[in-house]
Amino acid sequence: MNCPSCGAPMRLDSGAESLTCEYCGNIVFPEKNDDGVRVLGQPSNELCPTCGIGLVDASFSSAHLRYCTRCRGMLIDMDIFADLVQTLRRGNEGGGVIPQPPDRSELQRRLTCPHCRQAMETHFYAGPGNVILSDCERCSLNWLDHGKLMRIAHAPDALREEAEV
Ligand SMILES: [Zn+2]
Ligand SMILES: [Zn+2]
Ligand SMILES: [Zn+2]
Repeated sequence: MNCPSCGAPMRLDSGAESLTCEYCGNIVFPEKNDDGVRVLGQPSNELCPTCGIGLVDASFSSAHLRYCTRCRGMLIDMDIFADLVQTLRRGNEGGGVIPQPPDRSELQRRLTCPHCRQAMETHFYAGPGNVILSDCERCSLNWLDHGKLMRIAHAPDALREEAEV
């Protein structure tokens, strides 16, 4: 994103919530959209694996990720994924929603990694939520379709599930 006051490129601040212009010092806090995502940049040359438009830099719950403004899917670094899931799940304590069964046809899906342009692996997410996701080991990236991250966040954890049976 370029500075709205002077047009110079802006730098993403730590915390991934705001951008600072190194030239004039202007600080911009992009608005959150309906998904709670702040779009921080312009479409890049990394293309959405499901709809092919350029992904944008974005932040969600203080995590920096890449986001598709059309299908609202998220490309998340594996290094931060576990922390992000934990943060989201902590915010949803007590609100366990029994997840829908996954759509197994998604396992047949062949997606291309936006970063290295090679095939991604599609498989069940090992954690809660009955979610099928795609990842690229080479680039350490997870692709989550719209809504899947929140499904993971809202799913009951294993302990709670056992307690309720
Ligand atoms: Zn500026
Ligand atoms: Zn998309
Ligand atoms: Zn890759």
